Amino acid sequence: MNANSPLDQRLAFMDRCTRCSQCKFVPVPKSREHASACPSMDYVEYHAGSASGQLIMASGIAHGEISYTPSLLETVSACTMCGACDTACKINFAELVEPLEGLYAFRARIVEDGQSPKRHREVMDKIAATGNSQGQPRAGRATWAAGISFDSAPKVLLHVGSVLSYDTNKHASLRLIAETLQKAGLCPGYLGEDEGSCGMLAWDLGYHHMARSLAQTFMAQVRASGAKTVVTFSSSAISAYRSIYPRMGLDLSGIRFLHFTEYLLELVETSTLALGAAPTYDGKTVAFHDTCKLGRLTEPYQETDRALQKEMGGIYVSRTPQAIHFSQNGIYEAPRALLRLMGITVEELERNRQYSYCCGAQGGVKETLPAAAKMAARNRLDELNETESSTMVSACGNCAHHLGKHARDAFTVVDLIDIVATSLTATKGGK
Ligand code: SF4
Ligand code: SF4
Repeated sequence: MNANSPLDQRLAFMDRCTRCSQCKFVPVPKSREHASACPSMDYVEYHAGSASGQLIMASGIAHGEISYTPSLLETVSACTMCGACDTACKINFAELVEPLEGLYAFRARIVEDGQSPKRHREVMDKIAATGNSQGQPRAGRATWAAGISFDSAPKVLLHVGSVLSYDTNKHASLRLIAETLQKAGLCPGYLGEDEGSCGMLAWDLGYHHMARSLAQTFMAQVRASGAKTVVTFSSSAISAYRSIYPRMGLDLSGIRFLHFTEYLLELVETSTLALGAAPTYDGKTVAFHDTCKLGRLTEPYQETDRALQKEMGGIYVSRTPQAIHFSQNGIYEAPRALLRLMGITVEELERNRQYSYCCGAQGGVKETLPAAAKMAARNRLDELNETESSTMVSACGNCAHHLGKHARDAFTVVDLIDIVATSLTATKGGK
């Protein structure tokens, strides 16, 4: 036991897990078929794959009662760090367990103990060498922006993120949006090849020191730019800014962090930009996939009371002063509002908003256990069978790419950025 270890600090919470299994299911499911909340439980198919199972293993490691084995590490690697377990657990137990905090601490302990899976280490090596998890050269990061001149003393700093920066299929949409902002007189800034990883993946893989270092570098770049608003195209980055950076003790004061859907909606609502009917989708119905990072994992971090008291005949309670959040404060409305403004009808999947089901693209699962990532994507896509729509839209480039890769039959997956980019214009005279 090490009192300074994040895992040992979570022990009191982890050991309070009642094994009730609520974390495996969406609260009040609409059907038996889509009742699951947890892709790793669906893949592993026994309790160890659930948040509760992982907490039991983590507790065993912290108490020195069990040792690492290949199957333990593979089971942990199937977890996408999607946080659905945390939302479901809080319905009954509020902050008494907070399983996701235990999962973060467990992954950090695995790294600390030198047990990080080989594929995770390879991803981290690539981030350290190139600033992105694909290991793409830094020199190629800003090719999407060739010829566009950005403001050197901007009010708004654009952050593109690794996925879209290196996805040549997204470059036209990024250019259209950047050029429309300039036509509207907004003149954003952009770090170009100096933009690096936001640190979210490093955090999810348990490399918390590296995540902190990446976050510090980014915040120093933001301060040096003079921008007071950061607009990111990455759902991982907005999750990091609002939920992870506050845990690191970074100075975030005076900076607004927005996802591009929030920013564009704000500009449309203030008549700086106009959003017309979507060329291909006007009048059509689509189903919206809430990305975990953009939704429940973008809820601002809330520090809860760690000093649990035993009261009322042995029931543990806390005295966290503010009301506990239940993941309802993620970004849910902005992408839906943009779709509606473009003449598109938005249909809800059975598991939506804070109860959305992870597509499998996050948490290092795609890299370590591609079969688990594929299974999660197929499970998610199957929900289209219960809708009128055959098109699923995501506001995350990572999810859209992963879901699209595994879509079957007549189902298609569209990235929201590609619909918005062609429907956006600067209003006359701009800002
Ligand atoms: S983590 Fe929470 S929801 Fe899951 S079994 Fe434990 S107490 Fe129940
Ligand atoms: S974070 Fe997601 S995949 Fe991991 S245990 Fe929780 S619900 Fe399951």
